[in-house]
Amino acid sequence: GPLLKITNLSKRYDGNKIALKNITLEIQPKEFVVIIGPSGAGKSTLIRCLNQLVKPSEGEIIFDGEDISKAKGKKLRQLRGKIGMIFQHYNLISRTNVLKNVLNGKLGSVPFWVSTFGLYSQEDRLQAYNLLKTVGLQDSLYQQAKDLSGGQMQRVGICRALMQEPSLILADEPIASLDPKSSEVVMDYLKKVTEERDLTCIVNLHQVEVAKKYATRIIGVREGEIVFDGTSEELSEDI
Ligand code: ADP
Ligand code: ADP
Repeated sequence: GPLLKITNLSKRYDGNKIALKNITLEIQPKEFVVIIGPSGAGKSTLIRCLNQLVKPSEGEIIFDGEDISKAKGKKLRQLRGKIGMIFQHYNLISRTNVLKNVLNGKLGSVPFWVSTFGLYSQEDRLQAYNLLKTVGLQDSLYQQAKDLSGGQMQRVGICRALMQEPSLILADEPIASLDPKSSEVVMDYLKKVTEERDLTCIVNLHQVEVAKKYATRIIGVREGEIVFDGTSEELSEDI
């Protein structure tokens, strides 16, 4: 069955116009979905509803067979543990080294003292190292995050998300702060690692050409509604 089943999802922020209108959508395992649309269309709101960073006003979100929109406490933490997040501004700890930033992906799945005192197991360290190697950062393990380029920071962000061993990756404008060359490197890695691990990926982008290059499915959003849902080939230029 589908990995995500979204039914009649709506979001209205306090005192504001409606950001999402009655979205119904199914996403299958291993899809690489790109959501495109102009600024203010509702892309971020949709992504944030999926992991409950934003509480939907109405609707249901079944993730991996469970209703994440109703989940609370331990159940919500457990479901969120299966969702890796990638952010526009990377959200790394700037004065912490690359390896520890990646190990932070384990937060919540290790006892608090392990993360507090950096007492990660050799196995976890090896996993983090191997992830960093797949994105070409094996020589930057002990550099502080703040000393990296934007493209390098986002590659660390990808590794941190993968460290959770998620089944779903959500990336909210992952390349919006990067130059075209770094954007290509980051998208190439994101596509490669998610394919290799059979992960499902949902990425917000505003560049149609980039969406067409990587997506197995493109969803166009405008004013809180889905205006297109199809393959790159089906997407006409006029969206
Ligand atoms: P996009 O990601 O496509 O740029 P957003 O989901 O950020 O769109 O925003 C959709 C709409 O919701 C916009 O009108 C935006 O101003 C509004 N919005 C987003 N976040 C908030 C918020 N925290 N409070 C109030 N309104 C918001
Ligand atoms: P983006 O283009 O990535 O959506 P924005 O500048 O629109 O970035 O939003 C940045 C932050 O401000 C987000 O956390 C968003 O939820 C919030 N936000 C956006 N629009 C509004 C709004 N109208 N009122 C309150 N908060 C908003």
